[in-house]
Amino acid sequence: MEPTEDRPTDTGAGDVRPVDVLTVVSVRDVTPAVRRVTLTAPGAVVAAAGPTLSLLVPRVGDPAPHWPQVARDGRIVWPQGSHGVALRSYTARRQDPAAGELDIDFVLHGDGPAATWAAAAAPGAVLGVASAAPLGDAPAGWLLLAGDETALPAISRILAAAGSQTRGIALLEVAGPEEEQQLPAPAGVELRWLHRSAAVPGAPLLADAVAALPRPEGEDLFAWVGAESATVRTVRADLRGRWGLRRPQHHAIGYWRRGRAMSPAG
Ligand SMILES: Cc1cc2nc3c(=O)[nH]c(=O)nc-3n(C[C@H](O)[C@H](O)[C@H](O)COP(=O)(O)OP(=O)(O)OC[C@H]3O[C@@H](n4cnc5c(N)ncnc54)[C@H](O)[C@@H]3O)c2cc1C
Repeated sequence: MEPTEDRPTDTGAGDVRPVDVLTVVSVRDVTPAVRRVTLTAPGAVVAAAGPTLSLLVPRVGDPAPHWPQVARDGRIVWPQGSHGVALRSYTARRQDPAAGELDIDFVLHGDGPAATWAAAAAPGAVLGVASAAPLGDAPAGWLLLAGDETALPAISRILAAAGSQTRGIALLEVAGPEEEQQLPAPAGVELRWLHRSAAVPGAPLLADAVAALPRPEGEDLFAWVGAESATVRTVRADLRGRWGLRRPQHHAIGYWRRGRAMSPAG
């Protein structure tokens, strides 16, 4: 799911609701490049905020962000003028409504409003959530999961939800061994870590690894892919062409675009 940013719209009083606001309770580095931010909110807000979140990221240090509102049909209604809030897609790595807590793992890629916010995040900081969406996965006897650091939260949730008899492979592209994470998985799913080493994020590592995989037999297959957009396009073409996967058998989404922001900050 690529985020969409809607123009300010006058929907009339009563047609809009406020966004949900979550407050940071703690921050810790899971790996050198991944920062886990734990947020708190009432249980119902936590339960509704995921697994995929349309996150509203304020300027670093803004104690009272000028949030947009959400129209009844889900469109975001932006405030007029400069507000400094950016819309980005993220994944709730963990949702615990009973504890009123939700974790988001941010890749500290060094640029952009979300990565900059995460690098500076501290208890008391706030984030908005405009809407939530599913991960796009589907149960199958054989799973292909392919993604980079940005997709690890989604892949960890898909693996955790997979039945114990599930077979398959997860191709996980990270900078190096220091970026590998513990991901509980069914015994029949191989976790294969691909190290970029000197290559830049979004290098063709993942696409090459998928291209080297023989197509599993049968039709009880599902492929889930989340990574840099050009990589995902290559993988999607391979899965639709060589593997012959039909639309219900795969979900392949560009999670970020090399050299381009996902959408401008307001
Ligand atoms: C459905 C969905 C779920 C996602 N879940 C997560 C998640 O849980 N955790 C997570 O970290 N990301 C996740 N992403 C990816 C995240 O939305 C993008 O990386 C986004 O661009 C980050 O916004 P930003 O403001 O930091 O950078 P932007 O303003 O969007 O981009 C600024 C610059 O940084 C570059 N850039 C962006 N991301 C990366 C990257 N990962 N590596 C190297 N360069 C990069 C861009 O090419 C651009 O040049 C998800 C994306 C989608 C679509």
